Formats: sequence, C-alpha cells, structure tokens
Amino acid sequence: MDTAVESALRMQIIAWVHERAERNGGFLHRQELLSYRTGDRDLPLIDFSRGIRNPAGFASTLAIVQSAHGPYDDIEDPDDGLLHYAYRSGDPFGGDNRKMRAAIETGMPLILFRKETPNYYTPIAPVYVVDDVPEESAFLIALDESFRYMGDLRSLSEPQRAYALRLAKQRLHQPAFRTRVLLAYETRCAVCTLRHGSLLDAAHIAPDASARGIPTTPNGLALCKIHHAAFDQNMLGISPDYVVHIDRDLMEEIDGPMLKHGLQEMHGRALTLPERVEDRPDRELLAERWEGFAGVR
Ligand SMILES: [Zn+2]
Repeated sequence: MDTAVESALRMQIIAWVHERAERNGGFLHRQELLSYRTGDRDLPLIDFSRGIRNPAGFASTLAIVQSAHGPYDDIEDPDDGLLHYAYRSGDPFGGDNRKMRAAIETGMPLILFRKETPNYYTPIAPVYVVDDVPEESAFLIALDESFRYMGDLRSLSEPQRAYALRLAKQRLHQPAFRTRVLLAYETRCAVCTLRHGSLLDAAHIAPDASARGIPTTPNGLALCKIHHAAFDQNMLGISPDYVVHIDRDLMEEIDGPMLKHGLQEMHGRALTLPERVEDRPDRELLAERWEGFAGVR
C-alpha cells in the first residue's frame, strides 16, 4: 500500500474510533472493533488472539492492545510516563515486532486499545512508537509526537518526565477512569438514570487534585453532564447512605422544567448503584465530600 494511502486510511480509522467511542461514552465493544469495514474490505481493528494488529498491506503496526490490571490502571511505567510495551513473545525479530520497529522509522500514528474489562476497550489515539529497548524486550510508546525528537528516552530530563506524566494523566488515566466507571454503572447516571454515554461523565468523589482523588471506581460516580456540574458546584450533594440532596435555596426557586424535573425532583432519591459491591462509592470518601455540601446548605 502506498504510504499516503496508508496514512489517510489510518486517519480515517482513528476518526471513526473516536466518534464511535464518544457515542458510547468513551469506549468500544470488542465486536465493534472486529467488524470494522472500509470500502468493501473487512478490516478488524484488533487481532483475535494477539496484542499487535498488523493489517495486510500496512507497512507499520495499526493498533496495540494492553490489558489493565487490578483496581489501578497502572499499565504504563509510573516512572517515566511512557508505556513499555512488551515484544510479541517467541520471535523478537518476527513480523509483528518488525512492523512495530517500522513505526519508529515512519512516525505513523497508532491506536492503543486499553482493555479495561473483558470485551471493552478505551481507545487512546494517536500514540507513537518512539524507541526499541532490546534489554527490556519492549517498545516505548509515547502519547505525542514530541518524544520522537527528545533524544535518549531512557534518561528523560526532569521537565520531560513531568510532561510525560501529565500527558499520561490526561490522555490515559482520565479516559480509562471514565470507561471503568461508566461500565460499572451500566452507562447510567447514578442520579437520574439517563442512559446516553455521550452525555455521561465519571465524576470524582474526592476531587482529582486532592491526595485521595485517585482514578478508581469507588472514587467515581457516573453522572450526566448536568448532575456532574451540580455536584461539583455543591448544588447537589450525595450523603454517605447514597441519597441525593438538592441545595435548600435551589429547592425554593421557581423556574422551568430543567430545574423542576432535572434537579428539584431528584431530592431524596436513592442513587442507582453498580451491581458489584466493590464498584460502589466509598462511603468514607462520600462522607468527606458531604461535609463540603452540608457546610454550604
Ligand atoms: Zn443525571
């Protein structure tokens, strides 16, 4: 395939993945990825059995899959903010790894699919293969192109490391957190049960900026945009017994249907919780947040 054609096709695929994920709430189902078609060609975006996806005719790798482990999404190296992606085992100089090396040369963008739970993937794109580390049997994957020009990535300067970590937080941790929280809540707002992924966020209970503001499901709530904003503004509070409260002043206001149905009628409602107990909101974190809400009431 001609380089310009391959490049254009990648852009088209990346745009489709973003659009589809956004519609779902930030993730794609395995079946959506396997059934992708372009023109009259089937072009699955992930491989059935391996992590590296090298479609026929592509000079370099199109996509890589990595599974998240445990409650933290700590699949990237916490030290340097780069993803250390293991060679396809068995054959370090085989075709899969060769096309990953080709991506270092061409600078072609790839898609990283983070497998959060069986069948569900958070797409992170574009990402770039920026180095080959034979002594680790791994490739280094960066979240933007600038790392291609940073020289020796095995000893990043302090500002470079800080930049990589900040980028990882925005481009990896936050999207992955949204996927896990939305899936735990079956893509429903915990307050009003609205079921449109594109209108749902993962809200932090302990704020993102605080020490306890970690991106784990028990520190999250699936909330629609309006309830998320109301929660962050202390117009809506959630008590540790999982009941929704609306600010007193707001309860007395008279306005249109959004205020009446969207906010006032939510007062006293029980939260719609994840089925799995371990995914439910941490009551201690809620209690801390509740103090802030009760304080302004
Ligand atoms: Zn809602």
